[in-house]
Amino acid sequence: MKLIADIKEMQLFSNATKKTGKTIAFVPTMGFLHDGHASLLKKGKEVGDLLVMSILVNPAQFGPKEDFTSYPKDIKRDMALAEDNNVDVVFNPAADDMYPAGFQTFIDIEKLSNRLCGLSRPGHFRGVATVVAKLFNIVKPDIALFGGKDFQQARIIKKMAQDLNMDVDIITMPTIREADGLAMSSRNSYLNKEERKAAICLYNAIKKARDIFDNGVRDADAILKEARNIIKREPLAVIDYVKVCDIDTFEDLDTIEDRALLALAVKIGKTRLIDNDILG
Ligand code: AMP
Repeated sequence: MKLIADIKEMQLFSNATKKTGKTIAFVPTMGFLHDGHASLLKKGKEVGDLLVMSILVNPAQFGPKEDFTSYPKDIKRDMALAEDNNVDVVFNPAADDMYPAGFQTFIDIEKLSNRLCGLSRPGHFRGVATVVAKLFNIVKPDIALFGGKDFQQARIIKKMAQDLNMDVDIITMPTIREADGLAMSSRNSYLNKEERKAAICLYNAIKKARDIFDNGVRDADAILKEARNIIKREPLAVIDYVKVCDIDTFEDLDTIEDRALLALAVKIGKTRLIDNDILG
């Protein structure tokens, strides 16, 4: 496994790889890896000849009051997990090299970025789209893999690739969960024992919504009320949003015709967690 920090070196490596006719699969991450990341790496190894994973805590996607400086890091453990998952290249650029002084070009996916998480995290998806576009220009992947846990992010990246004619296939993979159902996330490491127990309310809310939907209820408000009640019963939880919305546009739905996205963001103590499910 190769470790590359230099942007130009990564570009040259990708150019050389592509000249041999090999395809590149790419998994962008912010590190502090878990089995959710590993599932993307396994799939990446299946669909591409060469597997590149990036590790970068991207300053552009954090708000001024968010956890950029405290975001968990363990590069040694990440390298071991990458090796176990047959990663060929770990690309680990310095944030200052990605955003040198004078940097001023950003990508805005206008409508999709201003719903759900975009409302409570202004500028977040602008930062995500910009760094992913930069990483695509550096790594030059044929295929890039994203997790369904960050459903809005994956949808936005797909839209960016489509709108800007980026020559890359985007694959979205299912959410990997802990044994009790909590979606795996690097931020789960912030939770103390009591908060960890409380965090299961997100999955319980999803299960409740799914039960009601499976019993034939199609009224979004009726589903939302029950889902919100599950979270409200948990004293450590504060709802950011719980929404039933269109799976493509993220516009709120009153009635579910065919299928819908149930998306939620909940603060457990100081930790903001997200989860989602497709109803239908
Ligand atoms: P992050 O390091 O949190 O930026 O995540 C890097 C990639 O891993 C993103 O595409 C995430 O959607 C994906 N990912 C994170 N958590 C999970 C999970 N529990 N299941 C599947 N994919 C995940």
